[in-house]
Amino acid sequence: MHNFNAGPSMLPEEVLREASAAILNFNNSGLSVLETAHRTRPIMDVMEEARALVKELMLLDDDHEVLFLHGGATTQFMQVPMNLLHKKDIAAYADTGVWSSKAIREAGYFGKVEVVCSSKDRSYRSIPKDFALPNDARYFHLTTNNTIYGTQWHQIPDVSVPLVADMSSDILSVQRNFNQFGLIYAGLQKNMGCAGASVVIVNRKWLDKIPVKISPIMDYRNHIREHSMLNTPPVFAVYVSMLTLRWLKAKGGISEIEKINQQKSDMLYAEIDRNSLFVNRVDVTDRSRMNVIFELTDEKLTSDFTQFTTERRIYGIAGHRSAGGFRASLYNALPLSSVEVLIEAMQDYEKRVQAK
Ligand SMILES: *Cc1c(COP(=O)(O)O)cnc(C)c1O
Repeated sequence: MHNFNAGPSMLPEEVLREASAAILNFNNSGLSVLETAHRTRPIMDVMEEARALVKELMLLDDDHEVLFLHGGATTQFMQVPMNLLHKKDIAAYADTGVWSSKAIREAGYFGKVEVVCSSKDRSYRSIPKDFALPNDARYFHLTTNNTIYGTQWHQIPDVSVPLVADMSSDILSVQRNFNQFGLIYAGLQKNMGCAGASVVIVNRKWLDKIPVKISPIMDYRNHIREHSMLNTPPVFAVYVSMLTLRWLKAKGGISEIEKINQQKSDMLYAEIDRNSLFVNRVDVTDRSRMNVIFELTDEKLTSDFTQFTTERRIYGIAGHRSAGGFRASLYNALPLSSVEVLIEAMQDYEKRVQAK
């Protein structure tokens, strides 16, 4: 199958094979990875290796701690302001789509939120360019890749307050200076594993300044102290993530996968722009390299095209239920050859429609 699903999404076959084997017999222990106690050496090693690989691949400095926590990115919409935003504090947010709007709403439960820029009036087809932040903002939150609308921040704005980023759908796909961020979070199920947990990367120095008490299980500092083992961690999700990180390292790391991601998305956008049947309405400079959205110029062909692609084992290209159209997610694990199959299907479909 050519799996273009937006999330949970495709994983490398090697990862699936190794994870399957470990479900039956983990590290030749005769036990399943699912039935091994978390405070034993082999599982602690998995937790440690996963965190170390994130640090290594993202070139993080010693101030940045890596946590694997229960819950999805949506949980982080709440946990971030719970830790960092207190009553009279102001947080600045960029509104670039459904996920940012949800993050904005959650932050409102904890402090004052200022939406400093929004592309809502442009139907989220662009990334805001000119905006100002309040000097006293605790942080500025942005969603680096907008999974539903197919836009991406290709340039991270240079701001004077700590940056917080939801990188759920482009983490590990593109090299950035990750040390410039105060906090980064991402659900694992899009580009780095299976569903059930999130990675949180946080600058420890920044947390030292928080005087407030919150529920201990929500407090990042406790998770740092306990090395993501404050309670039973999401062992299997972290294990699959560790395998995915190993796979990425073997591929040459982020800078190598970035080249392939660039190639995959360039090819697909070129076809959408060439093909008379399809259109992408996102500002060209803001197009996402991970989630490529496109529409049929003649909407009536939607179910026919869907069937046409299904026959070629192309899976998961329906647009998000709130956006419609089509979306091809080109995460790290999706091979270039699958993009070629999709492009060929689009070309053949154009010929078929033109022949009628
Ligand atoms: C998928 C997604 C989310 C939601 O993730 P959950 O793990 O389902 O909570 C949040 N932000 C972005 C950018 C996403 O792509």
